[in-house]
Amino acid sequence: MQEQMKTWEYDVLVVGGGIAGGESALNLAKLGYKVLLVEKEPSIGGKMILLSKVFPTLDCAACITTPKVSEIARNSNITIFTGAEAKKITKKGERQFEAIILKKPRYVDVEACTGCQLCEEACPVSVSDEYQYGLVGRKAAYIPFNIASPRAAVIDIENCILCGACERVCPPNCIDFTQIEEEFLVKIKSVVVATGFDLFDPLKIPRYGYGTYKNIITSMQMERELAPTRPFNTILRPGDGKMPDNIAYVLCTGSRDKSVGNPICSQICCMYSIKQAQLLMGALPMADITIYYLHIRAFGKGFNEFYAQAQDMGVEFIKGKAGKITEKENGNLVLRYEDIEAGVVKEAEHDMVVLSVGVLPHQGISDVFDNQKLELDPFHFINQSDILASPAKTSIEGVFVAGTASGPMDIPDSILSGGAASAETTSYLRRATL
Ligand SMILES: Cc1cc2nc3c(=O)[nH]c(=O)nc-3n(C[C@H](O)[C@H](O)[C@H](O)COP(=O)(O)OP(=O)(O)OC[C@H]3O[C@@H](n4cnc5c(N)ncnc54)[C@H](O)[C@@H]3O)c2cc1C
Ligand code: SF4
Ligand code: SF4
Repeated sequence: MQEQMKTWEYDVLVVGGGIAGGESALNLAKLGYKVLLVEKEPSIGGKMILLSKVFPTLDCAACITTPKVSEIARNSNITIFTGAEAKKITKKGERQFEAIILKKPRYVDVEACTGCQLCEEACPVSVSDEYQYGLVGRKAAYIPFNIASPRAAVIDIENCILCGACERVCPPNCIDFTQIEEEFLVKIKSVVVATGFDLFDPLKIPRYGYGTYKNIITSMQMERELAPTRPFNTILRPGDGKMPDNIAYVLCTGSRDKSVGNPICSQICCMYSIKQAQLLMGALPMADITIYYLHIRAFGKGFNEFYAQAQDMGVEFIKGKAGKITEKENGNLVLRYEDIEAGVVKEAEHDMVVLSVGVLPHQGISDVFDNQKLELDPFHFINQSDILASPAKTSIEGVFVAGTASGPMDIPDSILSGGAASAETTSYLRRATL
C-alpha cells in the first residue's frame, strides 16, 4: 500500500525567505494567521543577510537582518522549512489551495545541532563556498555562514565522500545519514510568492574577462569582502592576495543591454557601487576608486546626497562605456573604454575591477502553479496584474507577490512590497468572514 503523504494546514504559504517574504510572513503571523515559510536554501535571510552595509544610511545589513530573522524564527505562528521548495500549487476553490512541498534532507538534526563546527574541522572535503561567492572554500559538512538561521550544520551530500569523520566528532551525535527527501501536502488559503532575484552572470560578456582574470570580481563578491562575516578580514585581490589601491567599477554589467537579453535598469547597481566605493575609501584610505557609468540613477530618498558625498570623498566618476578588459603580467587590468563626454576611446590601468552585475528574474515559480497561470511580465518577473491600485496582486486570485520577484528594487522597497502583500492577503482572507 502506498504511504499517505503527511498533510498540514496553514492559512498562508510564503514561498521565499528573503527580506520581502520574511516581512510578509511576520506581518501575517502578528495578525494571528498561521504561516508556512518555505525557503530553498539552508538559511533564511535571502541576499540581504550577506550584504555589508546598506545605502544610503550605511547601516550594517547584518545588524538589521539578524533581529528580524530571529523574530521570524521565534514567532509561534510561523513554521519554517529550510531546504524546501513548493513542487506543485493547485487552486481548489475560493481561499483553497493545495501545495506539495519537497523538503531535502539536511543530514543533521537541526534541533540537536549546537553549531560547534567540529564537523567542519573534521571534514576532509573542500569545495567552493557559494555563500562567499566562490572567494574561499568550505567543507562538505558546513554551517552556511556565521549568522545563518538556523545556525546548524548541513551536509553537502553531492560532495561528501561518506568517510564518517563528521559523525565521529559530533558531540550531540546529531548527524544522520539516513534522512531522506520528504514530501508534504499543505492546505492553505492564500499564497505569497517572494522568490527574489538572480544576479547576472558576467561570463556572458567574455570581453570583460571575468572568470579568466582573477582580479576581476563581481559586486556581490566585493559585498562579501566588505561584510562583517567576510572571508579575508580585509580587502584583497583574489589573484595574488595584494591589497588593491586602484579599483574600478563597471556599472550596468548585464543591465540596460539588449545584446545580453536584459534591456531594463536594475535600479540598485549605481547605488550599491557608490556605497561600496565609500566603504572602500574607509577600508583602504590610500586607494583610488573610479566608477565608469552611463547614467547615475540616484532617484530615491537621500540617494542624490549620497552620490554627492562619494564625489566629495574623492571617488572619480567617468561617463564611459567599458569595451574590453585585458590583464598585464603583474595581474593589473587595462580597461579600454569610450569616454562619452570627450568622444574618444581611452585606456586606464587598475589593479582590481568590480563588475556591478544586474538583477535578473528568478525563474521557475510560475511553472509550479498547476491549474492556473501565474503570469509573467515581458521581462519574466511576476506580473503585477493591477500595479497602480493593488501592486501585490497577481493573475491568480489569492496569490500575491512580494519584493524583487516582481522586479528590481532595493531593501526599503522590498520591505514595503512585503507589507503590501501581507495587507492584500489579509484583506483576501477576511473577505471570507465578512
Ligand atoms: C551587490 C548587491 C548589493 C546590494 N546592496 C543594497 C543596499 O546597500 N541597500 C539596498 O537597499 N539594497 C541593496 N541590494 C538589494 C537587496 O539585496 C534586495 O533589495 C533584497 O535582497 C531583495 O529581497 P527579496 O526578499 O525580494 O529577494 P532575495 O533576497 O533574493 O530573497 C529571495 C529568497 O527566496 C528564496 N527562493 C527563491 N526561489 C525559491 C523557491 N522556489 N522556493 C523556496 N525559496 C525560494 C531564495 O533562496 C531567497 O532566499 C543589493 C543587492 C546586491 C546584489
Ligand atoms: S562524511 Fe562527508 S561530510 Fe562528513 S566528514 Fe566525511 S566527507 Fe565530510
Ligand atoms: S552537526 Fe554536530 S559537530 Fe556539526 S556543528 Fe552540529 S553539533 Fe557541532
